[in-house]
Formats: sequence, structure tokens, C-alpha cells
Amino acid sequence: MNKEKQCICQDTQRHFLFRAFDSLGLEDAHRELLLASFRETRFSIPVVLRRDGRDVLRTFQGFRVQHNHARGPFKGGLRYHPEVNQGEVRALAQLMTWKTALIDIPFGGAKGGITIDPAELDKTELEVLTKRFIQKMEPLLGVHQDIPAPDMGTNAQVMAWILEEYSKSHGYTPGIVTGKPVELGGSRGREEATGFGVACITRKVISGMSLPLDEARIVIQGFGNVGSHAAQALARMGGRIIALSDVHGAIHSAAGIDVEAARAHQAATGRLQGLPGVDALSNEEMLELPCHILIPAALEAVINCDNAGAIQARVIVEAANMPVTHQADEELRQRNIVVVPDILANAGGVLASYYEWVQNLQEFPWEHGSVLRRLEQHLLRVYGEVSHHAGENETDLRTAAYELAIGRVNKAIQLRGF
Ligand code: NAD
Repeated sequence: MNKEKQCICQDTQRHFLFRAFDSLGLEDAHRELLLASFRETRFSIPVVLRRDGRDVLRTFQGFRVQHNHARGPFKGGLRYHPEVNQGEVRALAQLMTWKTALIDIPFGGAKGGITIDPAELDKTELEVLTKRFIQKMEPLLGVHQDIPAPDMGTNAQVMAWILEEYSKSHGYTPGIVTGKPVELGGSRGREEATGFGVACITRKVISGMSLPLDEARIVIQGFGNVGSHAAQALARMGGRIIALSDVHGAIHSAAGIDVEAARAHQAATGRLQGLPGVDALSNEEMLELPCHILIPAALEAVINCDNAGAIQARVIVEAANMPVTHQADEELRQRNIVVVPDILANAGGVLASYYEWVQNLQEFPWEHGSVLRRLEQHLLRVYGEVSHHAGENETDLRTAAYELAIGRVNKAIQLRGF
């Protein structure tokens, strides 16, 4: 994320948080405590790279921000990206605290990362970098202390290296990290969990609007892990996906897109455009199409002051993190467009991570179907709590979600004492 986007996102997150602080009537001293990180650590990670036949020493910067662990061990991903910095990691760690509290799993919030473009390194160099990072971070980690996961630029292979490095001094410890390969204790269903959760929540939201799923026109921006699995699950549930997009552009068909054909076309050509029988349009045009449900599943701040007035959807389900800026959120609210906030809509990923950790502690893997059934039940229960709270307090889903999450963290702090 570039600096400008980081500022917009941090501003947006702060705005949403303070709106809930205000409606909860929290005193300044409590706000300060809830915002403060428990611990912020910065690491230097020296690695010798082989470039043009010469050894070149590079020292990378790594971070781990442990925001809050009042409700359980710190939990949050590790991001490898050239723009990673302490401020961004701190904001993302806070978001994890609210997300784990909202879905009521026994975790706190953390985030970490290394300022690096992972494409600059070959696989062996990435392994060395990751293991050296974990050597330095090891005193902070533990299955009941701090449990990393994948994020932008990291994946199941990186998690496997973390497991290996940590297990050298602690014995085989799969529960030290989530998002691992299934062969090393990863959970079945983890890969599709976020997109599947988005689909389950979308179906539930529109059922409350007397809009049958098979009559709803759905637009999805982003066709990566989250967007493609959300599209597949919604299509299986009977939904009509009229537009999809990736970084290269969007495709549209009023009659509905065959999602399996789109996946096959993308796998074969590297892009969605060019799929037979559909029209091409830009990502910007796609967001403004007449539709019932809009699911941004790619980037932050794509719905902002410039286009909020042109959005024609009845419901926006935030599959990506922070796709709607706070100014756009206000405008959408005035236009009675329902926004399902990211901390609820995309929580299927961290919920599946929690299931993975539970399976590791129990040393008992669950079946694929059982993971997805539990996930759906759990997310729908949380959605029910949020919409009930919103109704009782005559507020929107986002403020209700933040109020519930902040209330739980605050309560845990009060019960435990400082
Ligand atoms: P991904 O990298 O797998 O996919 C991203 C998709 O967005 C790709 O299809 C890419 O082509 C598209 N894209 C990139 N730039 C674009 C642009 N300018 N316009 C339109 N599309 C563009 O990522 P992902 O894992 O699917 O994550 C998507 C979002 O969901 C991110 O905001 C991420 O933080 C959030 N999220 C992901 C998970 C998870 O489990 N993967 C969990 C919670 C939140």
C-alpha cells in the first residue's frame, strides 16, 4: 500500500473507531488504553544475497506489533511488502483485535511484516530471510502467546518455514502458526474460508430484504483468493454474477457469468477479459453498474468521495479490508445503501485460522465439510448479533460491529485488571 493509501486507510479506521468510542461514551483514558499497543518490536534482519556472481549484504527491517491480548494470545498475519512500516503494521494489529473480539474467538490482535518486495528474492533467499526473522521474533511467539499467519506477500510455504524454525527449539509445534499446508497441520477449508464466509453473509443479508438470491444481480471486484471463492460459492447458492474483475479490467454479462468458465479462462490466459460471450469494461465502470449486491474484494478505498454518489447497489459487502472510505460510508448511509463492514464480512479467514489452531491443540484434524458448516453457523450467529445490536440502537452495521468488539475488549481488560 503506498503512503497516500495508508493515510486514507488509517484515517478511515480511526474515524470508524472514534464513532463507536463516542456512541459508547468511553472516557479519554479508556480510549487511550484501547488504542495503545501492548508491545512494538522492530528487527534488523541481515541476509547475504548472491547478485551478479557477488555476495551482497542486505539488512531488512522487520516488525511485530502486539496490540492487545486481553481476550487471548496475540493473533495476526505477517506481510512482506516494500511499503510495510511500523504505522501500517500498528493499524492492522488494532484491526485484528476488533475482528477477533467481534467474532468472539479467544485471540487478541497483532500484525507483523518485513519491508521487502518478495519478488526480489529467490525461494532459498526467502527461506533464509523468514527463518532469520523468526529466530529474532522467537521470544515473542508461543501457541498461547502469539500466533502468526499469512498476509500480503506471504503464503502457506512461508508458514511452513516458520513452523520448522520454531520447532527446532520447541519440538514439533504446528499450533505456532496458521495458514500452513494441510500436510503440516493446516486446516481443510482454509483456502476458501474467507470467500465462502462472504457468500454466506451476503445470502443472509439479502434474505432479510425479501430479495431471493436467484433474483439478485451481483458484482464482484477482484478475482483472487477471496473474490473467486465468493463468486464460486454464490453461484453454487444460485446467485447471478453479472460482473467480475481483476487488475487487468472487468467483464460483464446481464444474463450472468459462468464462474467456472471464468476461472478456467483466467487460469489459461492470466486474465478475465477475453472470456467468450461477455463485454469488457473498466474496473471503475463496473463499480457503478446497476446491481443489487456489490462485493469489493480487491483493494482499499475503491469506493470514495469520487464515486460514492454513483454507486447503484442496494448492499455493499466489504470482502476486502477497508474498501470504503469514511466519507463515502457517510454518503452511502444517507442514501440507505447497506454496508456490511469488513471486520464482519471477511472474518471467515481468521475464524478458519482459529479452527486450525484448535485442531492443532487437539491433534485432531476436522473434515472439510465440518469446517465449512461450523464456519457458516458461527458467522451467521455473529451477523445476527450485529444486526440485532444495530436495530436496538438504531445505528448502522459498522458502528454496531465496532461497539460490540470494543465492548468485549474493554470488558476483558476490566475483568483481568491492569
Ligand atoms: P489476491 O491477491 O488473491 O487477489 C486480489 C485480486 O484483486 C486479484 O484478482 C487482482 O487481480 C485484483 N486486483 C488487484 N489490483 C486491482 C485493481 N486495481 N482493480 C481491480 N482488481 C484488482 O488477494 P485476496 O487474498 O483475495 O485479498 C483481497 C482482499 O481481501 C484484500 O483487501 C485482503 O486484505 C482482504 N482479505 C483477504 C483475506 C484472505 O483470507 N485472503 C482475509 C481477510 C481479508
